[in-house]
Amino acid sequence: MIVREAKLLNATKEQYQALDEAIRTAQFIRNKAVRYWMDNSGVGRNDLYALCKVLAQEFSFAKKLNSAARQASAERAWASISNFYTRCRKGEKKKGYPKFKKHCRSVEYKVSGWKLSEDCMYITFTDGFNAGAFSLYCDKETREDLFRLKINRVRVVRRADGYYAQFCFDADRKEQGNYTGNVIGLDLGLQYFYKDQNDNAVVYPKYLRKAEKRLKRQQKRLSKKHRKGAKPQSKSYHRTRKRLGKLHLKVQRQRKDWAIKLARNVVASNDVVVYEALKVSNLVKNHNLAKSISDAGWYQFTQWLDYYGKIWDKAIVAVAPNYTSQDCSNCGHRVKKSLSTRTHSCPHCGIKICRDTNAALNILKRGMEVLGMEWQNSTQGHWESGSEDRKHGEKTASTIEGKPEIASGFL
Ligand SMILES: [Zn+2]
Repeated sequence: MIVREAKLLNATKEQYQALDEAIRTAQFIRNKAVRYWMDNSGVGRNDLYALCKVLAQEFSFAKKLNSAARQASAERAWASISNFYTRCRKGEKKKGYPKFKKHCRSVEYKVSGWKLSEDCMYITFTDGFNAGAFSLYCDKETREDLFRLKINRVRVVRRADGYYAQFCFDADRKEQGNYTGNVIGLDLGLQYFYKDQNDNAVVYPKYLRKAEKRLKRQQKRLSKKHRKGAKPQSKSYHRTRKRLGKLHLKVQRQRKDWAIKLARNVVASNDVVVYEALKVSNLVKNHNLAKSISDAGWYQFTQWLDYYGKIWDKAIVAVAPNYTSQDCSNCGHRVKKSLSTRTHSCPHCGIKICRDTNAALNILKRGMEVLGMEWQNSTQGHWESGSEDRKHGEKTASTIEGKPEIASGFL
């Protein structure tokens, strides 16, 4: 599924308020559905659909929301309920009991309740909230897709800098990829964003680091202005809060553009890409800011690897990360080392290479095993072919810092 985004512009204050009301109503229905599930036993998805009808009869504002959008809200509630069930079944520690939402930012329409103009320049919301017509501000690719593809869902999202419409398309994009015969194993790390088996490193760009620092500073400024228990908070608090929201948005977009571009590069120049599978549950636990930011970046990056792999029909493999940095890539001997040990030197076979390169080699080896492919792991050979690859790697690394050429419309 592809998601494309357009900003909703050129509308009156009342129109945006109508969107807000629709979002609030969607939240109301979702919360009511969760409450209904809590209070009654044996509630299934269909019971929640039935509840939508009852709510529409009971509350005039609920009736205003398009009926399919009401159902979509109930589906949201059901998603959190069924995820909870799945976690229980798996016996996970954190069950994640469904909660009520306070700050929903979006409402989802299906195929009704909205209408695109013939030229796809405007969208009109036609349900009871009467939000009316908005002009769509988006890039060329998005506009083409609006013409070309069947839209399954439209989501209205409120962000710090305005309102957006997200269009979900079902089309599976397939393109002719060019095959290069190259394989790559990626070790995702803190010092480098990743390092591959040929010792090429890609570093996290400076402008993103700086932006994140700015974010941290602004966050501090905000918490200084926060008065505990005060209602309402001061004007300047809210001003800062809004500014922080916009900054978050900007950094988020920059990070995403960078991850997309890098992933696109990696998949385009390799036929097989192997990376370490990251445990998402581990990501959430992390309280170290620097670490959590790069974790989020890796996760996004690996998802884009998968995405481009699908488009160009290439093998993208995620392998278990156990012992990838400990085992010797040359002889398989397990060499225990702490996080601060930067080189891997094996007492068994005498090899001495960068710790991350060693891990990348192990990762690649595992991936090839998964694929059932032969891959000769002779470090000697790698150093020879390495010089050529390294030039190539540098080229990739330097283009990444430039302006992204891919639209940020995908998800
Ligand atoms: Zn060894």
